[in-house]
Amino acid sequence: MSHLTKNYNRKKIAFKRGKGSYLFSTNGKKYLDFVQGIAVNCLGHSHPKLIKTIKNQSKKLWHVSNAFQIPEGEKLAKKLCQKTFADYVMFSNSGAEATEASIKIARRYFFSIGKPHKNRILCIKNSFHGRTIAAIFASGSKKMTEGFGPKVSGFDHFVFGNHTSMKKKITKNTAAIMVESIMGEGGIKVIPDWCLKELRKLCDKKKILLILDEVQCGISRSGDFLAFEKSRIKPDIVPIAKGIGGGFPIGAVLMNKKVASGMTPGTHGSTFGGNPLAMSVGNTVMDIVSKKSFLNNVKKLSKYFLSNLNRLREKYPKIIKEIRGRGLLIGIQLHKEQEKFVKNLMDNKLLTIRAAENVVRILPPLNVKRKEIKEALKIIDKTCRDFK
Ligand SMILES: *Cc1c(COP(=O)(O)O)cnc(C)c1O
Repeated sequence: MSHLTKNYNRKKIAFKRGKGSYLFSTNGKKYLDFVQGIAVNCLGHSHPKLIKTIKNQSKKLWHVSNAFQIPEGEKLAKKLCQKTFADYVMFSNSGAEATEASIKIARRYFFSIGKPHKNRILCIKNSFHGRTIAAIFASGSKKMTEGFGPKVSGFDHFVFGNHTSMKKKITKNTAAIMVESIMGEGGIKVIPDWCLKELRKLCDKKKILLILDEVQCGISRSGDFLAFEKSRIKPDIVPIAKGIGGGFPIGAVLMNKKVASGMTPGTHGSTFGGNPLAMSVGNTVMDIVSKKSFLNNVKKLSKYFLSNLNRLREKYPKIIKEIRGRGLLIGIQLHKEQEKFVKNLMDNKLLTIRAAENVVRILPPLNVKRKEIKEALKIIDKTCRDFK
């Protein structure tokens, strides 16, 4: 009998080893892993440079308190700021912590400029920002909040794409709009560049902050280091996590100078956040995934993958409704029964994961090889052919 709580609907399979894009199960089978811990292992399994980093750093220093200077963290923060809009970075251990901290930063900023009434956060209904008490009420999904009341107040919601309703929901108490640049759990829904531009203009006009949750779509997943970059806007606050640790738990909030001014000593903290071991790994991941040549390769692979998936959509119009996504954050929207499809893909040795709106989510490592994408396409083709 398992003594683990049943809050996950786990597949009956365990893995003993991973190498690059592949996972090897305890019962001796080989799988092409296009989940990668849900966009976490951006360099695949057992990347030699990450192994080396952990080996070296583990012999030197694992953990010290944030009461002291942590040079490895200084280094990673500098790299993140050089690569993005940010002036300051605050580290944590997970995505939910980073989105929660983002909410705190937004509120604290308005408090610090003498406008404490500006504390409400406007979010997309049924979005995903993590599983802490505040984050579930930010997401505003019934499935996630049911049984976890009393409701955390301070969040307002609008429906994805409904601009009129969004504008109406902005009041004198609104502090920020928080959205995912590309909705991951919500079904791989990309916010178009023109929309992000309008959103920035609106936030400027209303003098509120723009928080873009890049926990899933960030860290080169979209083909740009951060997914909003193509729109050329500058948000105020950006929580990141998943990919930045390459499998080691790291979360962070990127922010501009203006909002960082509210975060004075004592306003926030984390015991584990930003420790030397985590930061060393983050530095190695960052050095690899932020390179222009690496990003160009993600774009190239994405083009190949998406165009071939669209071919499969034309071949199987009764099964595949739409191909979604950007970079290597890809969704195959089916007409029905996506759960069964994911199971069939797994039987054919390709691991994928569900998202909302009947979407099969595909998250290969960012250094995936073209021939591995080809292999996945073959499996998807076969699975469609046999799908009844
Ligand atoms: C995964 C995710 C989170 C939560 O991250 P955790 O590390 O699971 O806490 C928050 N926001 C988005 C967009 C995510 O995809």
